[in-house]
Amino acid sequence: LDPQSFSDESKAVVDFIAEYYRNIEKYPVQSKVQPGYLSEKLPDTAPYAPESLDDILKDVSESILPGLTHWQSPNFFAYFQANASTAGFLGEMLCSGLNVVGFNWISSPAATELESIVMDWMGKMLKLPSSFLFSGTGGGVLHGSTCEAVVCTLAAARDKTLEKLGGSENITRLVVYASDQTHVTVKKSAKLIGITKSNFRVIPTSFSTKFSLSPENVQAAIEEDIKAGLVPLYLCGTIGTTACGAVDPIMELGKIAREYKMWFHIDAAYAGSACICPEFRPYLDGVELADSISMNPHKWFLTNMDCCCLWLKQTKFLVDSLSSNSEYLRNNASESNSVVDYKDWQIALSRRFRALKLWIVIRKHGLANLMYHIRSDVDMARRFEALVVADRRFEIVVPRKFALVCFRLKPELESEGSKLNRKLLDAVNSSGRAFMTHGVVGGRFYIRVAIGSTMTEEHHVDDLWMLIKEKAQNCSYSN
Ligand code: PLP
Repeated sequence: LDPQSFSDESKAVVDFIAEYYRNIEKYPVQSKVQPGYLSEKLPDTAPYAPESLDDILKDVSESILPGLTHWQSPNFFAYFQANASTAGFLGEMLCSGLNVVGFNWISSPAATELESIVMDWMGKMLKLPSSFLFSGTGGGVLHGSTCEAVVCTLAAARDKTLEKLGGSENITRLVVYASDQTHVTVKKSAKLIGITKSNFRVIPTSFSTKFSLSPENVQAAIEEDIKAGLVPLYLCGTIGTTACGAVDPIMELGKIAREYKMWFHIDAAYAGSACICPEFRPYLDGVELADSISMNPHKWFLTNMDCCCLWLKQTKFLVDSLSSNSEYLRNNASESNSVVDYKDWQIALSRRFRALKLWIVIRKHGLANLMYHIRSDVDMARRFEALVVADRRFEIVVPRKFALVCFRLKPELESEGSKLNRKLLDAVNSSGRAFMTHGVVGGRFYIRVAIGSTMTEEHHVDDLWMLIKEKAQNCSYSN
């Protein structure tokens, strides 16, 4: 690595990205390429001789950009936003530029120590009880995704419970509880840690609870399992479900988990970010009853991919389950038990210095601007929701809590609802002017508008509504 060309070429790439952002609205939001398009454009073997950055960037422009769905476009309303920011990019650049691999404390003390500090900063912004903080009796770690966080907490819960039950043969008795709105990552993680397929309980939700988990139904399922000789292991509650942004009753679920001595995890991947604002913090009430909680700053906290915060009350169980040691990793600091070795808090050995990114995001914005960012997205969602409500052809399908609006064109016959709204969704997306996705709850197909791309402003939301209305005219609906 030659520092001079490093500097020159990095600047060229930064300029390239800046130009991309300047022109981002010119691209169709959802890529229009066909499967296999790229192999027609690129050679099928690697170059033998080095190529110039100019040539490579030309190919990025001509071959890669057309195959991108532009997640950072202000007209991207699909899935959940992955909101990038200058601060997040600067942090990512530092992380990647320094490229240290802080698997244990001694391998890069600052990487570990900054991570612990930032996890406490984040925890304090969310007003988590001190039992989740290093400054209290718990602690936190940065993972790449919620999936990794959940699989690690499940492994910790499994090993803790199996030890209590006196043998690993009891694994077939362990049961995991979630709702039909819980992210599929929990099911996948349960499978990965060896939970029998038939021991994964999916508790149905409905319009009557606005798709949040009913504590009574959870308790009934647990009682039935206990009668059958099974052992309740793990319950997942969600703050801001993926499909419709529902919130599970954390306090009541926490009490049930306590009563049955189960591990209680809170998945706040999307909406956890909102809980830094006092008006959203009540959704976290009862968190003191949880064993672990995770949220993704890479969704709604201006932190470029990837970044998932996981806090635990009793970090010991995670470490007991995940620690592994090799002679080449032995060192005095670890053996003195006075340091955190994050390799024992995750699946992989190697790890990125993600804390730099989150640290810079928090410092460059400050809590005040981070709250402003959340609130302005919520205000835009409220504005969009009001436009939907004011038009008698449309209806809100699930009441909005955060910056996700779930709506549909009202069908004349319920049986036509899915076809009608798919048609509208396709018409909007294929225009290239915006990109939204869909959900199905209670058998009802609807369109999701997730607001929160960093560059989205009010006029983008108004334009989206105009576009939806324009396309709705052609959706065989008489107004
Ligand atoms: N949990 C919820 C509530 C989500 O909305 C998502 C993603 O949308 C996930 C988990 C998965 O997160 P990750 O991709 O970080 O594993």
